[in-house]
Amino acid sequence: MAQGRIKRLQSAARSYSQPFKVAEQAVCALCDRPIPPALRDAHHLIPKSRGGVVTVFMHRACHKQVHALFTETELARHYPSPEALREHPEMARFIHWVQDKPSDFNPPTRRSRSKGQF
Ligand SMILES: [Zn+2]
Ligand SMILES: [Zn+2]
Repeated sequence: MAQGRIKRLQSAARSYSQPFKVAEQAVCALCDRPIPPALRDAHHLIPKSRGGVVTVFMHRACHKQVHALFTETELARHYPSPEALREHPEMARFIHWVQDKPSDFNPPTRRSRSKGQF
């Protein structure tokens, strides 16, 4: 019976060693960088209004960009995963642009195609 207990402890240790980020080390689902708690937004992969319950963490700036580009219908139909969002050309451009900015960078949302403004 003592052995059974040891077994359980070992399997717990195994699952703990998997790459697991605690909440304060949240990483952005889009740009893959750490998110300061003050700029952390939860994004519903399928909008709440469509019954979605799964959320991912994003920078506020990244999150704003998602909603500037996509309607809730588009999100629900075509972009219900971070992978799908990242593959959109405008999103890919934004991620490339934001990745060399500080992780606490919080720019106004870009809606135009003007380059070099920031
Ligand atoms: Zn981000
Ligand atoms: Zn959102």
